[in-house]
Amino acid sequence: MPEDKAPIDPWGSTLPADYETLMREFGIEPMTEEIISAFPSTHRLLRRRVEFGHRDITRILDALKRNGAYAVMSGIKPTGDFHLGTMMTAEEIIFYQSLSDKAVAHYCIADLEALADNGIPLEESHGIAVGNVADLLALGLDARRAYIYKQSEEKLVQRMAFVFSTAVTFNTLEAIYGPKHIKYYFSALIQVGDIMLPQTEEHGGPKPVLVPVGIDQDPHIRLSRDIAKKFKLVPPSAVFHKLTRSLLGEEKMSKRNPMSMMTLSDDPRLAERKIWSALTGGRGTVEEQRRLGGEPEKCVVFELMTNHFIEDDDELRKVYLECKTGARLCGDCKSQLADVVSRFLMRHQERKEGLMDLARSILEGGGWTRKA
Ligand code: SF4
Repeated sequence: MPEDKAPIDPWGSTLPADYETLMREFGIEPMTEEIISAFPSTHRLLRRRVEFGHRDITRILDALKRNGAYAVMSGIKPTGDFHLGTMMTAEEIIFYQSLSDKAVAHYCIADLEALADNGIPLEESHGIAVGNVADLLALGLDARRAYIYKQSEEKLVQRMAFVFSTAVTFNTLEAIYGPKHIKYYFSALIQVGDIMLPQTEEHGGPKPVLVPVGIDQDPHIRLSRDIAKKFKLVPPSAVFHKLTRSLLGEEKMSKRNPMSMMTLSDDPRLAERKIWSALTGGRGTVEEQRRLGGEPEKCVVFELMTNHFIEDDDELRKVYLECKTGARLCGDCKSQLADVVSRFLMRHQERKEGLMDLARSILEGGGWTRKA
């Protein structure tokens, strides 16, 4: 990597200043209309370009065309409840799994990374992971075509990380990630092992693998693609989504700042309160807003509607136009969103409760619900 490029930090909390510059610098391809229409069905994250870029998505499109096997893989660091950022990745994995009955989802519980990055002991992260998996199932993952595992218990991943380390120099890791403590480099190699797991003999051999991630995880994708070529594996494909901003808009939503994130376990009344204090693109006074219109481009409330809570494109367009023309005030949006979110949380939490036993049995029973 040329020295004038600042590395993206997968463990950091800052938001990129400009996605287009990042795409140019790191060679990420744009998600075009042609690509989107080549999928057998669509998703709001694609249509609205929240998923804005990719690497090698044509491998997945080819597999779909041939009705061939592919894997979609992602995961979560079990440090706390699902929040809207982790929900986005879950929704993507569910969508790409749903496109073909030949698609198998691999979901990694990154408990070794939670230990390295957050100091969470494995016994503690296990309990968190059970809840995370129940969230994933409640959102709609088809458990019959999914392998869900913990890094600490998946020997193949650990073995691959070790083998891959023989082909990577310290300088390469430093160029991709910047200067870091060795535990982060080691975690990165474990993640490469996670991404390659679907291509092992035990999981059906080499095949296209799609990794839906936030743009901040691209360093892992670049490292994995580099290593795949050295080990005669299929370089993994990736789709990149914009990072979910915290409710106050100052950084990416993360478990490091609980008051500025919304989790799927929040009490619906607490979630409503959080929405009422979220950042908007509203003006200083009602009079100004009526005269100048609001700024939905800066507004976290509008972002929540776009990314998560308004499915209907016409309805979203209406909110946008009413905001721009001053016909709508921020209170209207907040009240509408609070209502939608609170109903969503109640439904989701009830569904999740009913899936806790299945989640526990998957994690404690070897990863498969039923051998795919
Ligand atoms: Fe955001 Fe709605 Fe206010 Fe516009 S009116 S800035 S979309 S909250």
